[in-house]
Amino acid sequence: MNLETKKKALEILEEMYPEAKAELVFSNPYEMMVATILSAQCTDKQVNKVTPAVFARYPDACAMAEARVEDLYPMVKSCGFKTKASNIIAACRIIRDEFGGQVPDRMEDLVRLPGVGRKTANVVLSNAFGIPAFAVDTHVFRVSNRIGLCRAETVEETERKMTRLIPREKWGNAHHWLIWHGRWVCKAQRPLCEECGLKEICDYRKKQS
Ligand code: SF4
Repeated sequence: MNLETKKKALEILEEMYPEAKAELVFSNPYEMMVATILSAQCTDKQVNKVTPAVFARYPDACAMAEARVEDLYPMVKSCGFKTKASNIIAACRIIRDEFGGQVPDRMEDLVRLPGVGRKTANVVLSNAFGIPAFAVDTHVFRVSNRIGLCRAETVEETERKMTRLIPREKWGNAHHWLIWHGRWVCKAQRPLCEECGLKEICDYRKKQS
């Protein structure tokens, strides 16, 4: 796919998903960080079911820093591993002790927090702070490479190449277009190519036909 076609593909995605946005429910950076840690290998819908009770009991990072794993884990068990609960508490202790109780808004600080990798940090920066950031999750990695928007072996390389391609002010939205496209149309196992607005220009589709 040449540069012009890549730009066209992004325009089509923007038209297809004008409403695309984060599906995790949050009202501040602390809540977004906790919800994003819980969402690893779990659906946003499931996370949204457990977080209201979690945020009611632990309304900020300082409150969460005082939590015990044996109290938090039963509340978030349906979202997966026990390490998520221990990471959330450990991250909030660092936020309390080193950042005055406020989730930091710099990548280098966020990735020092337990349970916060580059993807989670980008999600928090983009959604909670409005700072341009492009998070690469499994959908974004698969769809970007499958369509031909980039050719990358790793999520880091995908982030580098996609942020060169996409205008900075659209990084956050483009992340959501690709997630929605990966969830609803360009599915991992059986992409719905016949229904797809990109079928005339998609590299994968061209190879198939
Ligand atoms: S044409 Fe098929 S492979 Fe290409 S983006 Fe659409 S659904 Fe995915």
